Amino acid sequence: PVPTLGNPKNTIEILNKYKFVFQKKFGQNFLIDEHVLSKIIRSAEITEDDFVVEIGPGIGTLTQYLAASAREVAAIEIDDALIPILKDTLSAYDNVTVIHEDVLKVDLCKLAEEKNGGKPIKVVANLPYYITTPIIMGLFENHVPVESITIMVQKEVADRMKTGPGSKDYGALSLAVQYYAKPELVANVPPNCFMPRPRVGSAVIRLTRHTEVPVEAEDEKLMFQIIRASFNQRRKTLVNGLGNAPELHIPKEMTTEVLEEMGLSASVRGEALTLAQFAELSNRILEKRK
Ligand code: SAM
Repeated sequence: PVPTLGNPKNTIEILNKYKFVFQKKFGQNFLIDEHVLSKIIRSAEITEDDFVVEIGPGIGTLTQYLAASAREVAAIEIDDALIPILKDTLSAYDNVTVIHEDVLKVDLCKLAEEKNGGKPIKVVANLPYYITTPIIMGLFENHVPVESITIMVQKEVADRMKTGPGSKDYGALSLAVQYYAKPELVANVPPNCFMPRPRVGSAVIRLTRHTEVPVEAEDEKLMFQIIRASFNQRRKTLVNGLGNAPELHIPKEMTTEVLEEMGLSASVRGEALTLAQFAELSNRILEKRK
């Protein structure tokens, strides 16, 4: 079937038919631009072999496009009021399952196992902006088998995912995303492509999972604890940041010594270190702790 949604007229018609009331707390901004929708499908490289997970289908706009290109789609929606609407707007598609649940409570590893034999899945979404980071981090940290994640996020979050040392946007999210995936900006999307219009600019970003990790961290968990601690106290030196983190207890002398071995100043801040340097730092601290 050919998608019917993705334009203002048909979106308003559905919203009126069901007297739908937008819920601010769920970050509801529905897409009403066909060009943007096609661009998402194209950059996600959806084929008829793919099993796709969509997070937050709304009234089913992007879902219709996905269902038209993929083998099978599972769409996870939290809002009760949208479930009967989705039943209606997706009635012409026999390859879509709507899961009425909070995405943060869904076992996506199990879903990938059941629906895709454990093979890597594609995630595509116009994300609810209030939980972008927990969703992305959950996918990576729970080791959900993903091949790529193509998502609409706030422009500023897309910038944070892509940037490196020296930028004000650089932080724990940049490092986590780049450890697991290659981020690529697909498109900037202005507020008028949504209903209602968000206050901020948006962007579509594609994260392609690395087949091999780009740096060798012997203790991944320790590396991310170090990264988090060094950005928690942005204005502090790395030595103080790690010294003050209760979950780490890294003595200041130890960090100073390691930084010296790495040819870095004892007064360096976390925001100056690359991913490779964070990996090396955590490996050296691990060694000294033994
Ligand atoms: N995909 C639709 C579109 O592009 O028009 C809607 C996108 S809208 C930005 C985000 C959607 O995520 C909403 O439908 C909202 O109800 C849903 N949502 C919000 N929090 C959620 C959660 N925790 N779990 C699942 N869905 C959620």
